Amino acid sequence: MIGSWLNGSDLRRQLGLYKKEFLWAAVFSMIANVLLLTPTLYMLQIFDHVMVSQNELTLFAVTLVMIFFFGVMAFSEWLRSRLLVRTGVRIDEGLNGMVFKASFDSYLQQARQKATEAFSNLVTIRQFLTGQGIIAFFDVPWTPLYIAVTFMLHPLLGWLSVLFAAIQLLVTYTANRASVSTIEGGVKAEQDSTSFVQSKLRNIEPLHAMGMVKHMRDRWQDHHESSLQRDDVMQEKQHRQQAFSKFVRYCMQSFTLGAGALLVIDGKLTPGAMIAANVLMARALQPLDLVIATWRQFVQARMAFRKLDELLDAFPERKGGSEDAPSSGAVRLEGLTAKVAGRDTPVLDNLNVDIPAGNVLVVLGPSGSGKSTLARCLVGVWPQFDGQVLLDGRPIAGWKRLALGPFLGYLPQDIELFEGTIADNIARFSEVDSEKVIDAAKRTGIHDMILRFPDGYDTEIGVAGGMLSGGQRQRIALARAIYGNPVLVVLDEPNANLDDAGERSLAQAVSELKARGTTVVLVTHRTSIVGLADYLLVLSKGRMVHFGHRDAVVAALRGGKVPSQISAPSP
Ligand code: ATP
Repeated sequence: MIGSWLNGSDLRRQLGLYKKEFLWAAVFSMIANVLLLTPTLYMLQIFDHVMVSQNELTLFAVTLVMIFFFGVMAFSEWLRSRLLVRTGVRIDEGLNGMVFKASFDSYLQQARQKATEAFSNLVTIRQFLTGQGIIAFFDVPWTPLYIAVTFMLHPLLGWLSVLFAAIQLLVTYTANRASVSTIEGGVKAEQDSTSFVQSKLRNIEPLHAMGMVKHMRDRWQDHHESSLQRDDVMQEKQHRQQAFSKFVRYCMQSFTLGAGALLVIDGKLTPGAMIAANVLMARALQPLDLVIATWRQFVQARMAFRKLDELLDAFPERKGGSEDAPSSGAVRLEGLTAKVAGRDTPVLDNLNVDIPAGNVLVVLGPSGSGKSTLARCLVGVWPQFDGQVLLDGRPIAGWKRLALGPFLGYLPQDIELFEGTIADNIARFSEVDSEKVIDAAKRTGIHDMILRFPDGYDTEIGVAGGMLSGGQRQRIALARAIYGNPVLVVLDEPNANLDDAGERSLAQAVSELKARGTTVVLVTHRTSIVGLADYLLVLSKGRMVHFGHRDAVVAALRGGKVPSQISAPSP
């Protein structure tokens, strides 16, 4: 059964690779737990033999044996911890690439699970596998061994320990079961509270400028309050349970001592066995105490496991896909219909477009008409669509992204540069090829601008390019889009932040791309760059109003068939 479970998702398969290590951990646990009987046996020897015979040599011999056993026990526990830590690290290493990829895919598909959550789930699982939590589960199965030894000392003591272990088990089970939803709710409330703060910090300037910080703080406090309350309930339950567990343990130890004394008085037990039984009983309940103390970790790890399992199941490592480079940037849309969850009308409705390689398509349309959605479909990042987006005659999803990426250029509307140097950003964080970086910068007219920065191409641009102006960010992002030799470049509002010089550089870069045979798709509100177009596509409410060669579309627009927000461009 465990075998088939481990063959399930990528996560379970990864865990399955370490069956041998967990088996060894169980073996070390067995050695450590069996040797934990040493103090009991030592006590029996001291009270029942050494003290009776008053033989110092025997005392010396049993002490030596005891030290040896303790040594082996400590060594086994150390090996077990070491093994679990290493296994945890290796499981993390085996999974983190998959988790990274799956959380990116999930984010791209606008799924509900947040990317940062996936990484913290992975850390939670690793910490559980390498900490006290899992050790408690390795030790619990040995409780019956201690009870069995108590039976060997005397059946009455044996039954007493069974009774107390049963009480402890019952209480642990019912209390833990009842606390699962509180713990899971607490974890979720805590994650919500943290991600609320993180998302607001990213946009701190407008919050501060417009005095919105207080309102945001009030909302955050609502999230935080809920997290605090759940934590309070959770802690309260756990402490109550721990206190009760201690009460049971103390009672048991005292009862054992009392019952043992009765048996000694009746001559049915030696004083040594009486004390040994006392130590043994404490030991028998210890793993259950540890389960109570680490229950929260267990529930958190189980929740993290479930979530990660779902994520990796929903976004498995994609096998297959072509590794070839596309030989041309010919673009064809066949009945492209893009949808969003929870909305009946499509964002793009039945687009049919054919752009031969090396041509420039300018996409026009009023706000909300679906231009950016089309740009996303073209580069294969829109999650849900019907119909086909073909690049070089092949569906865009039919390529391995690693193979296709270098042949695509994309400048999104919300430009996001990443922490690193200007060169890193232009080179798309691959190994920087200075010649290619400088070439891309020159082609977008920013080489001189970059040289004026303190460290030139090695200038660190700060978090999300925060050290640059909007126009500078846009131009560096344009250089990133045309870096290398892309066959298709999709530019979404590339001139939104540009001055006249920037617009001229953009026009030059586009003409140059065209001369190299690159297909360029330019999304814009402004009609000033229509002059660059070979083809024009006009969208309105997700539908294709016009598509064709530029002059024909311009003529049609001049003929009066113009959607209200678009004015006919001057050629
Ligand atoms: P603008 O010129 O203002 O950038 P646009 O023509 O680029 O507008 P899109 O951004 O493509 O328009 O949006 C088209 C429609 O799709 C809008 O109604 C928008 O609400 C919807 N839309 C876009 N992205 C999403 C999304 N991630 N989830 C839900 N709806 C979306």
